Amino acid sequence: MDNDKAITYTCPYCERTKIETAASAPYVRGFVLAFQIGAKNFIGCTSCVRGKVLGEAGLSLLCGWFSITAFFINPVLILYNVLQAPFISKNYAKARKKLSDAGIEDDESSVDVTRLGYSLATSMMAADGHIDEEEIIVALELGNKIFPDFNENELRQIVNVKDLPPPLDIATMLREILTEEGKRAVCLYLVMIAQADGNFDDFEKKLLSDVADKMGFDLDSLNDDDDEVAE
Ligand SMILES: [Zn+2]
Repeated sequence: MDNDKAITYTCPYCERTKIETAASAPYVRGFVLAFQIGAKNFIGCTSCVRGKVLGEAGLSLLCGWFSITAFFINPVLILYNVLQAPFISKNYAKARKKLSDAGIEDDESSVDVTRLGYSLATSMMAADGHIDEEEIIVALELGNKIFPDFNENELRQIVNVKDLPPPLDIATMLREILTEEGKRAVCLYLVMIAQADGNFDDFEKKLLSDVADKMGFDLDSLNDDDDEVAE
Protein backbone atom coordinates (compact mmCIF):
# COMPACT_ATOMS: atom_id res chain seq x y z
CA MET A 1 0.00 0.00 0.00
CA ASP A 2 0.96 3.59 -0.64
CA ASN A 3 0.86 4.35 3.06
CA ASP A 4 3.35 1.64 3.99
CA LYS A 5 5.96 2.64 1.47
CA ALA A 6 8.64 4.87 2.97
CA ILE A 7 9.47 8.19 1.33
CA THR A 8 12.92 8.51 -0.19
CA TYR A 9 13.50 12.18 0.65
CA THR A 10 15.22 13.45 3.78
CA CYS A 11 13.53 15.60 6.44
CA PRO A 12 14.42 19.25 5.64
CA TYR A 13 14.79 20.12 9.35
CA CYS A 14 17.17 17.54 10.83
CA GLU A 15 18.48 16.43 7.41
CA ARG A 16 19.04 12.96 8.87
CA THR A 17 15.78 11.02 9.12
CA LYS A 18 13.55 10.43 6.07
CA ILE A 19 10.31 12.34 5.61
CA GLU A 20 7.53 10.58 7.51
CA THR A 21 4.59 12.93 7.95
CA ALA A 22 3.06 16.36 7.39
CA ALA A 23 1.09 18.74 9.58
CA SER A 24 -0.48 22.13 9.34
CA ALA A 25 -0.28 24.62 12.21
CA PRO A 26 -2.86 27.44 12.09
CA TYR A 27 -1.77 30.80 13.44
CA VAL A 28 -3.02 34.35 13.84
CA ARG A 29 -1.01 37.56 13.99
CA GLY A 30 -2.61 40.81 15.02
CA PHE A 31 -1.52 44.24 13.79
CA VAL A 32 -3.57 46.48 16.13
CA LEU A 33 -6.44 47.08 13.70
CA ALA A 34 -6.01 44.20 11.32
CA PHE A 35 -5.08 40.59 11.72
CA GLN A 36 -3.72 37.87 9.52
CA ILE A 37 -4.77 34.29 9.87
CA GLY A 38 -3.06 31.43 8.12
CA ALA A 39 -1.41 28.08 8.51
CA LYS A 40 2.17 26.93 8.32
CA ASN A 41 2.77 23.62 6.65
CA PHE A 42 5.49 21.29 7.69
CA ILE A 43 6.71 18.13 6.00
CA GLY A 44 9.44 16.12 7.67
CA CYS A 45 10.22 13.32 10.11
CA THR A 46 7.71 12.85 12.92
CA SER A 47 9.80 14.38 15.68
CA CYS A 48 10.77 17.46 13.66
CA VAL A 49 7.18 18.11 12.53
CA ARG A 50 6.00 17.80 16.16
CA GLY A 51 8.72 20.23 17.19
CA LYS A 52 7.75 22.67 14.44
CA VAL A 53 4.06 22.65 15.47
CA LEU A 54 5.01 23.26 19.11
CA GLY A 55 7.42 25.97 17.98
CA GLU A 56 4.55 27.67 16.17
CA ALA A 57 2.49 27.52 19.38
CA GLY A 58 5.40 29.13 21.24
CA LEU A 59 5.74 31.86 18.63
CA SER A 60 2.00 32.56 18.86
CA LEU A 61 2.31 32.79 22.62
CA LEU A 62 4.79 35.62 22.06
CA CYS A 63 3.31 37.48 19.13
CA GLY A 64 -0.25 36.43 18.40
CA TRP A 65 -2.06 38.91 20.63
CA PHE A 66 -1.90 42.31 19.04
CA SER A 67 -5.43 42.91 17.83
CA ILE A 68 -8.80 42.43 19.50
CA THR A 69 -9.83 39.58 17.21
CA ALA A 70 -6.42 37.93 17.38
CA PHE A 71 -6.60 38.16 21.16
CA PHE A 72 -9.63 35.88 21.15
CA ILE A 73 -8.55 33.51 18.37
CA ASN A 74 -4.96 33.08 19.52
CA PRO A 75 -5.56 30.94 22.65
CA VAL A 76 -7.74 28.56 20.63
CA LEU A 77 -5.05 28.10 17.98
CA ILE A 78 -2.28 27.72 20.56
CA LEU A 79 -4.30 25.06 22.33
CA TYR A 80 -5.04 23.33 19.02
CA ASN A 81 -1.35 23.16 18.12
CA VAL A 82 -0.25 22.01 21.56
CA LEU A 83 -2.92 19.31 21.57
CA GLN A 84 -2.32 18.08 18.03
CA ALA A 85 1.47 17.77 18.47
CA PRO A 86 1.57 14.48 20.43
CA PHE A 87 -0.85 12.91 17.94
CA ILE A 88 1.29 13.64 14.90
CA SER A 89 2.54 10.29 13.75
CA LYS A 90 3.96 8.57 10.71
CA ASN A 91 1.65 9.22 7.79
CA TYR A 92 3.36 8.54 4.49
CA ALA A 93 0.21 9.06 2.45
CA LYS A 94 -0.35 12.54 3.86
CA ALA A 95 3.29 13.54 3.44
CA ARG A 96 3.32 12.15 -0.10
CA LYS A 97 0.17 14.12 -0.97
CA LYS A 98 1.68 17.36 0.40
CA LEU A 99 4.89 16.77 -1.52
CA SER A 100 2.97 16.08 -4.69
CA ASP A 101 0.95 19.31 -4.24
CA ALA A 102 4.29 21.10 -4.12
CA GLY A 103 5.37 19.44 -7.38
CA ILE A 104 7.68 16.97 -5.65
CA GLU A 105 6.87 13.43 -6.74
CA ASP A 106 8.35 10.62 -4.70
CA ASP A 107 9.89 9.03 -7.75
CA GLU A 108 13.27 10.35 -8.74
CA SER A 109 12.80 9.29 -12.33
CA SER A 110 10.03 11.86 -12.82
CA VAL A 111 11.72 15.05 -11.58
CA ASP A 112 9.99 17.99 -13.25
CA VAL A 113 12.28 21.03 -12.98
CA THR A 114 9.64 23.41 -14.32
CA ARG A 115 7.02 22.34 -11.80
CA LEU A 116 9.53 22.61 -8.97
CA GLY A 117 10.38 26.10 -10.22
CA TYR A 118 6.71 27.12 -10.06
CA SER A 119 6.41 25.62 -6.64
CA LEU A 120 9.36 27.42 -5.11
CA ALA A 121 8.44 30.69 -6.84
CA THR A 122 4.88 30.44 -5.49
CA SER A 123 6.05 29.66 -1.99
CA MET A 124 8.37 32.70 -2.13
CA MET A 125 5.64 34.97 -3.47
CA ALA A 126 3.42 33.79 -0.62
CA ALA A 127 6.12 34.53 1.97
CA ASP A 128 4.71 38.02 2.60
CA GLY A 129 1.25 36.56 3.31
CA HIS A 130 -0.48 37.07 -0.04
CA ILE A 131 0.02 36.62 -3.77
CA ASP A 132 -1.47 39.27 -6.06
CA GLU A 133 -2.40 38.85 -9.71
CA GLU A 134 0.43 41.17 -10.79
CA GLU A 135 2.97 38.82 -9.23
CA ILE A 136 1.38 35.87 -10.98
CA ILE A 137 1.53 37.62 -14.37
CA VAL A 138 5.25 38.31 -13.88
CA ALA A 139 5.81 34.66 -12.93
CA LEU A 140 3.92 33.59 -16.05
CA GLU A 141 5.85 35.85 -18.41
CA LEU A 142 9.25 34.90 -17.02
CA GLY A 143 8.36 31.21 -16.80
CA ASN A 144 7.54 31.30 -20.48
CA LYS A 145 11.04 32.66 -21.20
CA ILE A 146 13.02 30.28 -19.01
CA PHE A 147 11.30 26.91 -19.18
CA PRO A 148 10.90 25.27 -22.60
CA ASP A 149 7.98 23.17 -21.29
CA PHE A 150 6.27 26.12 -19.59
CA ASN A 151 2.57 25.61 -18.96
CA GLU A 152 0.34 28.40 -17.67
CA ASN A 153 -2.33 26.09 -16.27
CA GLU A 154 0.21 24.11 -14.31
CA LEU A 155 1.57 27.29 -12.71
CA ARG A 156 -1.90 28.54 -11.83
CA GLN A 157 -2.73 25.16 -10.36
CA ILE A 158 0.24 25.42 -7.98
CA VAL A 159 -0.61 29.04 -7.11
CA ASN A 160 -4.03 27.76 -6.06
CA VAL A 161 -2.53 25.26 -3.62
CA LYS A 162 -3.01 27.38 -0.55
CA ASP A 163 -0.76 25.41 1.73
CA LEU A 164 2.64 24.94 0.19
CA PRO A 165 5.54 24.33 2.58
CA PRO A 166 7.70 27.42 3.35
CA PRO A 167 10.33 28.28 0.68
CA LEU A 168 13.35 27.21 2.73
CA ASP A 169 11.82 23.78 3.35
CA ILE A 170 11.16 23.26 -0.35
CA ALA A 171 14.67 24.50 -1.18
CA THR A 172 16.24 22.03 1.27
CA MET A 173 14.35 19.16 -0.35
CA LEU A 174 15.39 20.32 -3.82
CA ARG A 175 19.05 20.04 -2.81
CA GLU A 176 18.90 16.28 -3.30
CA ILE A 177 16.26 16.25 -6.04
CA LEU A 178 17.60 18.70 -8.62
CA THR A 179 20.76 18.46 -10.69
CA GLU A 180 23.12 21.46 -10.85
CA GLU A 181 21.51 22.44 -14.15
CA GLY A 182 18.01 22.24 -12.66
CA LYS A 183 19.07 24.34 -9.67
CA ARG A 184 20.48 26.93 -12.04
CA ALA A 185 17.20 27.22 -14.00
CA VAL A 186 15.10 27.46 -10.83
CA CYS A 187 17.40 30.05 -9.21
CA LEU A 188 17.52 32.14 -12.37
CA TYR A 189 13.71 32.12 -12.40
CA LEU A 190 13.52 33.25 -8.77
CA VAL A 191 16.09 36.03 -9.25
CA MET A 192 14.25 37.35 -12.31
CA ILE A 193 10.90 37.34 -10.50
CA ALA A 194 12.39 39.14 -7.49
CA GLN A 195 13.97 41.81 -9.69
CA ALA A 196 10.96 42.27 -11.97
CA ASP A 197 8.95 44.64 -9.77
CA GLY A 198 11.82 47.13 -9.60
CA ASN A 199 12.14 46.99 -5.82
CA PHE A 200 14.50 44.18 -5.00
CA ASP A 201 14.47 44.84 -1.24
CA ASP A 202 16.60 43.44 1.55
CA PHE A 203 13.91 40.95 2.60
CA GLU A 204 13.84 39.47 -0.92
CA LYS A 205 17.63 39.45 -1.18
CA LYS A 206 17.98 37.63 2.13
CA LEU A 207 15.25 35.13 1.27
CA LEU A 208 16.78 34.47 -2.14
CA SER A 209 20.27 33.92 -0.78
CA ASP A 210 18.94 31.65 1.99
CA VAL A 211 16.96 29.64 -0.56
CA ALA A 212 20.03 29.22 -2.79
CA ASP A 213 22.13 28.24 0.24
CA LYS A 214 19.62 25.56 1.26
CA MET A 215 19.50 24.31 -2.29
CA GLY A 216 23.28 24.12 -2.41
CA PHE A 217 23.55 26.53 -5.31
CA ASP A 218 25.99 29.41 -5.69
CA LEU A 219 23.96 32.45 -6.77
CA ASP A 220 27.12 34.25 -7.91
CA SER A 221 27.58 31.66 -10.63
CA LEU A 222 24.50 33.11 -12.37
CA ASN A 223 26.43 36.35 -12.87
CA ASP A 224 29.41 34.49 -14.32
CA ASP A 225 27.10 33.19 -17.00
CA ASP A 226 25.81 36.63 -17.84
CA ASP A 227 29.39 37.74 -18.44
CA GLU A 228 30.01 34.85 -20.79
CA VAL A 229 26.89 35.69 -22.76
CA ALA A 230 27.96 39.32 -23.00
CA GLU A 231 31.39 38.49 -24.36
ZN1 LIG B 1 13.66 15.58 11.03
